[in-house]
Amino acid sequence: MNPSFKQHMNAWPLERLEALYTGITERDVAAALAKEQRDLRDLAALLSPAARPFMEAMAREAQRLTRWHFGRTIALYAPLYISNLCAADCVYCGFSARNPTRDKRLTLSEPDLRRECAALAKHGFESVLLLTGEAPKVVTPGHIAYAVRVAREYFSSVSVEVYAMEELEYRGLVREGLEGMTLYMETYHRGRYKQVHLEGQKADYEYRLTAMERAGRAGVRKLTIGALLGLFDWRYDVLWAALHARWLQREHWQSAIGISFPRLRHTPERYAVQHFVTDADFVQIILAMRLYLPEVSFNLSTRETDAFRDRLIPLGITHMSAGSSTQPGGYATHLRGQPTEATKGREVLEQFEIEDCRPVEEVIAAIRRSGYDPVWKDYDRAFDRG
Ligand code: SF4
Repeated sequence: MNPSFKQHMNAWPLERLEALYTGITERDVAAALAKEQRDLRDLAALLSPAARPFMEAMAREAQRLTRWHFGRTIALYAPLYISNLCAADCVYCGFSARNPTRDKRLTLSEPDLRRECAALAKHGFESVLLLTGEAPKVVTPGHIAYAVRVAREYFSSVSVEVYAMEELEYRGLVREGLEGMTLYMETYHRGRYKQVHLEGQKADYEYRLTAMERAGRAGVRKLTIGALLGLFDWRYDVLWAALHARWLQREHWQSAIGISFPRLRHTPERYAVQHFVTDADFVQIILAMRLYLPEVSFNLSTRETDAFRDRLIPLGITHMSAGSSTQPGGYATHLRGQPTEATKGREVLEQFEIEDCRPVEEVIAAIRRSGYDPVWKDYDRAFDRG
């Protein structure tokens, strides 16, 4: 039997990654760039400070590989928050249970969920990501499964970004039409993970680390992982995320694998970002990861500014969110210019501040200006190529 990802991670402690980075020179970077198939040492070379003079060459190769595997297209999706209730305490998050905002918490009723879905579908979206905090007693797995069923009436592709679940619970979501699941490990470093996840099921490192395996066994067709950039030294978290992606590709080959690159920018007052990732770091991460994982889809959210997102389009991105809201009830409110039943007279808590606030049409125009076609339907292009 193949080792679990937990066993695989245990074989790659921090010291082993440190050793990978030791002694890397520009010659190692040039050698990594010239290869067809790259190993983890090559990825470390491409992520190292020695790779900075090679960014242009890396960008050309990243663009070539992305076009080969995905064409000149960017798939659009929208996040839809079904609830902002959360019993967990993650120190970097606006939804944390420690945030004293009881009156700003809400869970969408079915009519409000339908209103939100209809508003997004009207804009042309065919792919939606349903999100919620960690409140499994109120927003139960059954509740989420029902939300998937409702959303499937409006969208051809429904994914979730919710708390970690049991395999049986994931099977329940798949039965209702779930296609994809996004779950970030946030940081793969055990010690750091414990410092920033103080309460709730999410404080259980191993349960979260193994969630993707349970989802893969349950038949979830798209598995999207990521590290929250800024929680720990990115040169290590990115290597661990790459190991995770390769492990999932091997063990859950029936599912397509994706990576997101959420970057911590604005945080609640009590938490200051200690490992800030600069724009140049961010670009290097995207390029190096594309060279290491050519057939994995890369998602980019509206956490990044419009100008920066536009610059990243030709460098390896395959999926972008657009016109996003990070609060429940956000779309029908914004699109209609008046509150929904759920949000009337209330200020509703947002998970994080959006940086790219452009309407969907402007994002589409920017994608076209870059020479790419925006696509609404998120069929699995990498798999279609066989
Ligand atoms: S990151 Fe998720 S689990 Fe943690 S506080 Fe925010 S919503 Fe809750």
